[in-house]
Amino acid sequence: EMMTKESIKKRVVDEQVEFIRVTFTDVFGTIKNVEVPASQLDRVLNNDLMFDGSSIEGFVRINESDMYLYPDLSTFMIFPWATDEHGGKVARLIADVYNADRTPFEGDPRIALKEAVKKAEDRGFTEFNVGTEPEFFLFKLDEQGKPTMELNDHGSYFDLAPLDRGEDVRREIVLTLEKMGFEVEAAHHEVAAGQHEVDFKYADALDAADKIQTFKLVVKTIARKNGYYATFMPKPVAGINGSGMHVNMSLFDQTGNAFAGDEKNQMALSDTALHFLGGLLKHAPAITAIANPTVNSYKRLTPGFEAPVYVAWSTSNRSPMVRVPVARGLATRLELRTVDPTTNPYTCLAAILSAGLDGMDQGLEPSASVDKNIYLMDENERKKAGIRDLPDTLLDALEELEQDPVIIDAIGTHITDKFIEAKKIEYTSYRQYVSKWEVDNYFMNY
Ligand code: ADP
Ligand code: MG
Ligand code: MG
Ligand code: MG
Ligand code: MG
Repeated sequence: EMMTKESIKKRVVDEQVEFIRVTFTDVFGTIKNVEVPASQLDRVLNNDLMFDGSSIEGFVRINESDMYLYPDLSTFMIFPWATDEHGGKVARLIADVYNADRTPFEGDPRIALKEAVKKAEDRGFTEFNVGTEPEFFLFKLDEQGKPTMELNDHGSYFDLAPLDRGEDVRREIVLTLEKMGFEVEAAHHEVAAGQHEVDFKYADALDAADKIQTFKLVVKTIARKNGYYATFMPKPVAGINGSGMHVNMSLFDQTGNAFAGDEKNQMALSDTALHFLGGLLKHAPAITAIANPTVNSYKRLTPGFEAPVYVAWSTSNRSPMVRVPVARGLATRLELRTVDPTTNPYTCLAAILSAGLDGMDQGLEPSASVDKNIYLMDENERKKAGIRDLPDTLLDALEELEQDPVIIDAIGTHITDKFIEAKKIEYTSYRQYVSKWEVDNYFMNY
């Protein structure tokens, strides 16, 4: 149903909501929130809720710190779990961030995504549809409620209980998501021990990004209620599969799925889809910085664990970066397999969409599809097939981003600068750390 100020006020009264949590996402993808008692609802709905932007990393300096939150009324929802001390209800609204002078803040990732979506609308598309497949691990909590490194089970892909001890937690996650308006398509144990995946139906990009943020909150909340700690860290345990967040995507127009259907083309993909794919392949190295923004992300992007390592696409196997699933009609889509759940979903989708639109503007053709296992090809074979390597460290990826004006434009120079600056510091800190691996391998030998 359409949410209005009046309908929100009515629900807050009828359901005796005690607190309103207004959330937004920072440059690094972390959800932030300002919580006010329900008595302040009018102020929230009139865009008059202020916060101190200088206390958010990557936002603004002290002297320009007053910022406003403009809630998106369509995101109103009451958390289905009791959230305050005496079991009262808490509602949330997702907001855009505005400057003190009431102009949109260029450092707000959600606004960056809105602008990218607008570019697609200007070209006649009605939706950029996105369906993600977030994976996560469940670890046990100790008696004090602190996370341990002990996985919750020894299950594997599609296992059933009793091996899969996460089943009850997963069911509760699914039921909670459904109460919050998600259409859950599937939930299953993943390949690694303690690893799970929940898939929900695709939605228009902004809604999809909002849903990813909500999803992480739900998973962490329900896991903890059940004595587990859920992490979206891409590679929490060496030697087993890491967690990705495949991004399935398609552009729709008035007539339906604009990626579907030219019989003359390979896989009956439309020219629109092929040019979009050409753009994705061209900008893949820079997108990697945003899609895989942590040092740990690159421990997942290694051969042998079902994660991509090369810039390539395929219609038949799952080793390349982009897969074209066999489904056709409304479900015709491209699947980008590099992305992991540490990405900021707003800037990530803005970058992906802008890359695709650039491919269409330039009429880029994708390289030939690779229909054998790329992990089994040697360097020469890959070179001959025009297959490039993805950046294999965070620093390499950041350097690719610095050289890609299309992707910088997609997320804006404010976000790009803050992001690169902070991520280079993160990388340097990692580089200076002496790990257990080094001690194990060098200490006794030298
Ligand atoms: P996989 O075969 O890679 O495991 P899943 O079935 O787990 O794929 O997930 C597929 C995702 O793709 C779901 O989120 C689904 O809603 C989404 N999807 C289906 N059709 C489209 C489409 N036309 N555009 C974008 N996403 C789509
Ligand atoms: Mg899946
Ligand atoms: Mg699935
Ligand atoms: Mg999976
Ligand atoms: Mg997938």
